[in-house]
Amino acid sequence: MSTELLRAALEAAERGRHVFPLRPGDKRPALHGEAHCPGTGDCAGGHRKWEQRATTDPDRIRRAWSAASFNVGIATGPSGLLVVDLDMPKRKSIKGTEGTPSGVTTFMALCERAGQAVPATYRTRTASGGEHLYFTAPSGIRLSNTAGALAPLVDTRAWGGYVVAAGSTLPSGNYTVIDARPVAPLPAWLLEALRPSERPAQSLRLALPKHGNRAAETALERETELVATAKEGRREAQLFESARKVARFVGWGDLTRQEVEQAFQMAGESAGLPASQCRSTLRSVLNWSLRNCRPREAT
Ligand SMILES: [Zn+2]
Repeated sequence: MSTELLRAALEAAERGRHVFPLRPGDKRPALHGEAHCPGTGDCAGGHRKWEQRATTDPDRIRRAWSAASFNVGIATGPSGLLVVDLDMPKRKSIKGTEGTPSGVTTFMALCERAGQAVPATYRTRTASGGEHLYFTAPSGIRLSNTAGALAPLVDTRAWGGYVVAAGSTLPSGNYTVIDARPVAPLPAWLLEALRPSERPAQSLRLALPKHGNRAAETALERETELVATAKEGRREAQLFESARKVARFVGWGDLTRQEVEQAFQMAGESAGLPASQCRSTLRSVLNWSLRNCRPREAT
């Protein structure tokens, strides 16, 4: 184990950041993936991914980091953070990429076009020479990751995303703090640029299957409607509950898994949930439900 990495994890947690272990010398999560879920411990009630297992609990952190020299991942969503990730162009000497501006440059140009100062906030340098600008995410809106939405080579990490914390090391370099000031709130002009566009509840009904038995179709129709119209703050829980109710019809062969996933995916997205979050919630609910599905007579 490495005391520096343990200290980096504990310091991040002290600041309210939810951390989880990344593979030593790597930036991929060290936790098991869904395909290899043992179904024990944190996952006793169904697989929980890194975003759900990230923690600020010093005891859990000490236990986890005593096992190996894990790098430190910060799950941005549960930490209430939005991190702007300014990337470097790939250093492959592919013809035409020389002179490609970095994310730092394109972000500065974006600020200038918007007539705004480059925001002053907690900032780290990444192993590749890029930068991470940390902001507190606004309340009342659930932002997800974006890639290139603000400017070329500028990504954002929020719900469904994570960043590698300062103190972590990769073979190519280290993550270091370059501005230690407190994390600033996300500037309003950046929020405006990131706000998900309001999408009308698109023809949900078209996505519903035209076969299967009546009870199954009715349940799917009712439950996808509940998801599509769920209020902010209830949306993910509703998706979880509703998908679980309908999943047994897949187990019984009344509906296919694909049509159930598609219908709930559309419903979740039209309610405003990020696509990636819908997919991962649906995958784990359906996996769990199909493993635990009881025969029709038993219900
Ligand atoms: Zn698991």
